[in-house]
Amino acid sequence: MLVPLDSVEILAIVDNEVDPMSTQPPCITATGRLGDVALTKGRQVGQERGGGTGLEGLDPIGGVKPGFEKSVKEVAMEQLCCGAHGLSLMLTAIKAGASQALLFDTAPTESIFEANTRRLQPSLKDVKHIHLSHWHRDHSGGMLSAVRMIQDAKGSSLPPVTVDLHPARPDYRGFVTPLGVVSLEADPSFQEIEDVGGKVVKTNEAHEVLDSHFLVSGEIPRVTVYEDGIRGGLRLENGAWVSDQWIMDERFIVCHVKDKGLVLFTGCSHAGVVNAAKHAITLGSPDGSIPLYAVVGGYHLADAEPEKIATTVSDLKALGVKVLIAGHCTGWRAKFEIEKEMPGSLVPSFVGIKTVI
Ligand SMILES: [Zn+2]
Ligand SMILES: [Zn+2]
Repeated sequence: MLVPLDSVEILAIVDNEVDPMSTQPPCITATGRLGDVALTKGRQVGQERGGGTGLEGLDPIGGVKPGFEKSVKEVAMEQLCCGAHGLSLMLTAIKAGASQALLFDTAPTESIFEANTRRLQPSLKDVKHIHLSHWHRDHSGGMLSAVRMIQDAKGSSLPPVTVDLHPARPDYRGFVTPLGVVSLEADPSFQEIEDVGGKVVKTNEAHEVLDSHFLVSGEIPRVTVYEDGIRGGLRLENGAWVSDQWIMDERFIVCHVKDKGLVLFTGCSHAGVVNAAKHAITLGSPDGSIPLYAVVGGYHLADAEPEKIATTVSDLKALGVKVLIAGHCTGWRAKFEIEKEMPGSLVPSFVGIKTVI
């Protein structure tokens, strides 16, 4: 049984989209836009820059005030995060003033995970658990860096980070193209993850983690007729490429925020975001009393037909979801459809933004 949280913080360490300027709707609290970066991470520039009265007549807050004649800080563009095709969210559960953190996926490359983590400076020593949503390199590629950096932050006094993985790691994944099979890079191996200090746990069963603050799903039942996985998806098995349309190793995370409801975190939604949403309700609220409040992550509709996008959004609306934090592989058409059909509920997931539910 999930423990009701006071709130959950979602820090987008890596996601596809960068937009430090757009405001977000009032259904969530968000920080990390350009102004926040300037004020919290900007460099002190001393008293040498400015000093005249040139602000007069231009200052929107009414003329030159004492102390406003000179710049106080300089914001460096290097402080802004970069986007990449993949996902890595740091989830922090807040309960009675205490917090527990989980890393949901690890970005497509080590370099982008390292660069954005240096910019955002999250408290990596607090990350007790890494969850990999599925074996695809755009989610696993930064894994070894993530484990190394978390272990470095923890030092030797704290227990090692647990790395929660599905046991069915393919040798390679790929897909069919008109020119032939394209292979992805191999995911990090269990041994490589252990070698950098992670404590590997392999399971395909649903289980609660971090004192029941989060729940990791097992296999996601495929119940809708229109969510049909990756057509042309492949895996290399015993040296031969075989069909792998359904990505059955995909799992999600769910938590319960009190007075709001369940929050679903989905990596790529190869199982279908509606299938994931239905199963999140089954797991997180067996008696059906807790509504599904928010769906966070990749909805995998970037290359979907218009009918599938419309049906998906209609079904999410019917489930009563209030907040759709859509990122990674959701695609602009699906985000547009959400905004059209469920105005005020779309929160595009921008890298570098911290959202609180
Ligand atoms: Zn994937
Ligand atoms: Zn993905």
